Parts: sequence; C-alpha cells; structure tokens
Amino acid sequence: MLICGASFAGLAVARELAGSGADVLLIDRYEIGERQTSACGIPTGWLEQLALQGSLRQTFGELVIHTPYTTARYALPWTFSTFDYRTLCELLADQGTFSFETAKVDGRSGHAVHTDRGDIRAGLIVDGLGWRRVLGAGENVQPPDALLSRGLEVHPGGTGGDMEIWIDRSYVPAGYGWSFPAGDEVRIGVGSFDPRFHVREPTVRLATDLSAESVRYQGNWIPHALRNATEDGVFFVGDSAGHCLPLTAEGIRTALYFGLALGRELSEVVGGRRSVPEALSRYSRFSASHERPFAWMLRCQRLVPRVAPRLLAGALRAMEARRFLDFAFGHYLEVAHPRFVAAGPRRTPVQVRVPA
Ligand SMILES: Cc1cc2nc3c(=O)[nH]c(=O)nc-3n(C[C@H](O)[C@H](O)[C@H](O)COP(=O)(O)OP(=O)(O)OC[C@H]3O[C@@H](n4cnc5c(N)ncnc54)[C@H](O)[C@@H]3O)c2cc1C
Repeated sequence: MLICGASFAGLAVARELAGSGADVLLIDRYEIGERQTSACGIPTGWLEQLALQGSLRQTFGELVIHTPYTTARYALPWTFSTFDYRTLCELLADQGTFSFETAKVDGRSGHAVHTDRGDIRAGLIVDGLGWRRVLGAGENVQPPDALLSRGLEVHPGGTGGDMEIWIDRSYVPAGYGWSFPAGDEVRIGVGSFDPRFHVREPTVRLATDLSAESVRYQGNWIPHALRNATEDGVFFVGDSAGHCLPLTAEGIRTALYFGLALGRELSEVVGGRRSVPEALSRYSRFSASHERPFAWMLRCQRLVPRVAPRLLAGALRAMEARRFLDFAFGHYLEVAHPRFVAAGPRRTPVQVRVPA
C-alpha cells in the first residue's frame, strides 16, 4: 500500500493500519515533521485521544473575536490547544508501522505513481498530499478558479494569553486574521476566503499592529469544499478531499478524523474482509455523508463578509450567551469529534513518547 503525504491525513491513515498486516510505504517530499503546514491549533480532546499531548504548547478556554466595533469573548465548552508540528508528527508516526521514503510525487498513471525517484506501483493508493490533489484523474486543482481560500502566517517569538481572531475588512475583505500563542512563539496570520486577495501585506500589518516581527513565514492554499474522496481507484484524504472546514479553515482534526476512517476501511481490505471496490464505495459515502455541515459552514463563510460591520458586532456580542456557545460549539465539534478515535479497533497498544 502506498500513502502519499506524511502530514496529518497520511500519518493518521498509517496509524490506523498498524497491526493490520498491511505493508505500507509512506512518502513525502520532506522528512516527517520538517515543514509546518498550519498554525497548529486543534481541539485539545484530539491530542488527548490520540495520546499526542507531548506536542501540546498552549491551551485556551476562550476565543476572543475582534471587529472594528466590538470585542467578543467566547467561553468555549471545550478547550483548544496549539501544538508543535514536528513533535506531533513524530508522535503520530510512532503509532504506525510503515517504511518511509522522501520523494516528490509528480502524478499517476493507473496504479503507478510517478515520483522524482522513479515509479512506485501499489494496489492501494492514498493521496494525502494536500490541496493540490496531485493524484486526481484530471488536471490538478488550480487557484483562483478552484474553491480555495489562502492563508499566510508569521511565527515571531513572544508570548500571549489569548487565542484571538480579527474579522476586520481593513485586513481582508472576506476572511479573518488570527493570533495563536504557542508557548514561546505566536502564530499570526491572515486567511482570505477569496483567492484573488493577497494576504502577505495584511499579515505583515497585523503582526506590526501586534508589535510582533514578521519572521518565519508559512502559507498555503486551503480548500473550502468537499471533493470526491475516491476517484479512479485512489483514496483521497485531508485537504486533497476538501476535508478542511469552511469558515474556520480548521483542517487538522478533520484530516485526522477522515484519515482514521480511511485507515479502518483499508484494514478491512488488508484482512480480506472487504473488497477494494467495497472500501472505495464505503469510504466515499462516509466522506460525502458530512456534506451538510460543510455546506452549512460554506454558507456562513459567504454570508459573514456581507453583513454590515455594526450588525456583525451586535450579532457576535449576542452570541456570547453561554447556552448559545454550548450549542454552537458543541455542534461544531460533533463534525469530527475526538471520541471517534476510541471508536476504532486499535490492534496495537499506543506507546506514548514524551519528548525530553
Ligand atoms: C496559514 C495556515 C494556517 C492554518 N492553521 C490551521 C489551524 O490552526 N488549525 C487547523 O485545524 N487547520 C489549519 N490550517 C489548515 C490545515 O493546515 C490543513 O487543513 C491541514 O494541514 C490538512 O492536512 P493534510 O495532511 O491533508 O495536508 P497537509 O498538511 O498540507 O500535508 C500534505 C503533505 O503532503 C506533502 N506533499 C505535498 N505535495 C507533495 C508532492 N508533490 N510530493 C510529495 N509530497 C508532497 C507535504 O510536504 C505535506 O507533508 C491552516 C492552513 C494555513 C494555510
């Protein structure tokens, strides 16, 4: 089995295959954990359930939202944490059983994946390569026509106590800015729902406004619509399947969630309990069954930038009510709940490695 992409999605698939007897080759153009792909914020429950607390940097019980007319403080019914990317990837990789090679994937013909180190043939192929969907049947997904947002952030040294969001059109007409403290660094960035708007200048401006340096950039395109999770006999997971949530651009827990689901399907195939066509169809249906919350969040993503700023400020303040927050954030977590981790059949015990 070949898993392409060794970030959240690919590592989750490999993790769930441990003990299934699968012969797994995982490839990525970089070493595992080498290139951070996000601000690395996630509901803490996911770190706990996957025994990844060793990567935790900072935990927040509140979300602070700034607009030009108000600042709202939301007491969350569950906590959110930032983590260290490299450590998380290493801890997750330790839970899988696979061979790893660095190789850049260029495309695919049938069951042969073309890489800069030669072709690799495999009966089961997983694309966890991110938004570009490199192993798709047609042309690669290309901005600005595809349903993609864009995000860029800087990682200056520093500390902070709040997880903060800015919904402010002076930074970005449709989208938001953020500041996620993570121990001794802060991840400050801007995401635009419209791929035509550039995010570099507003990211630098937001960092300057926060008296932080614009150093250590990282950015990427972010899908904001579900795509077919299978195509031409290939399994897609994480950003390659559009599994990142619209509106919030939260794509880590969903990459883990769908990665575990896919790993469970593939384990059944390896164990001879399910055919490949069955697994393709079941996984595709499982992914598509989440269409409703994704579509609902996409509607909100399109609506928020159209609401007059004063009206938005009033609405955000009204939403500070405890009962509303419990309801809204409870539903939001349900889209990919950490209890899903324990719902699967683990075949090997998890070894928790806490870094020195
Ligand atoms: C600036 C920014 C901040 C974000 N912050 C958050 C956040 O705080 N919380 C959150 O939940 N989500 C966040 N996201 C979204 C999140 O990063 C993605 O949804 C998530 O990384 C998807 O995981 P993935 O494993 O599918 O893909 P990725 O994390 O993109 O991983 C793809 C992997 O494939 C490899 N790869 C790509 N192309 C090739 C190739 N051709 N050959 C070989 N290897 C290749 C890459 O090296 C990488 O390891 C953010 C996104 C951006 C851009």
